[in-house]
Amino acid sequence: MIKGFIPFTLVDFPGKVAASIFTGGCNFNCPWCQNRSLIDRDSLSLIEDIPLNSILDNLKRKKGKIEGVCITGGEPTVWKDQLFDFISIIKSEGFLVKLDTNGSNPEVLQFLLTHKMIDFVAMDIKNVWEKYLMTIGLRSFSLNKIESSIELIKNSDIGHQFRTTLVPELVEKSSMEDFAQELDIEIHFQEYRSVFS
Ligand code: SF4
Repeated sequence: MIKGFIPFTLVDFPGKVAASIFTGGCNFNCPWCQNRSLIDRDSLSLIEDIPLNSILDNLKRKKGKIEGVCITGGEPTVWKDQLFDFISIIKSEGFLVKLDTNGSNPEVLQFLLTHKMIDFVAMDIKNVWEKYLMTIGLRSFSLNKIESSIELIKNSDIGHQFRTTLVPELVEKSSMEDFAQELDIEIHFQEYRSVFS
């Protein structure tokens, strides 16, 4: 499940000194994905899994120096039960947990929120509804799931952030500002970094 580990970051968990963990695999196929090595089966199979024990050892050694763990991907929620188990372990060690998600699995999100397993969640809003499928590179996907995740997060009592990557010629800032107003959310914009630059 775990393909990458950054032991120390000041930018991935708002307001916290944290470590970041990258899970492999994603149920979307955004043509502009900046983490393609984490979602393409062929390249993913070349990246060794990082043993859970080595991550836990590393985290335990940093107790008192880092406050939280950011779990990002890929899409962490595709790991469902393994994700629940992993979060339970790091929570039991006293770390705060931030989850990055594409919002595709509201039932997983609901479980995590109900069981107070996450302390912060950041969800990507990929585009306006009319361009969503094109932006996530799928022919079909129930956008009701995205809507459900947005509602769950909006109504949760944990810190959260909705964010959009401004992909040139695909995601327009002004349309997204209108969309955010329609959804009654605040949106945080990220600039697109080409993997070819
Ligand atoms: S949801 Fe994220 S990780 Fe998945 S394909 Fe899209 S940009 Fe890549």
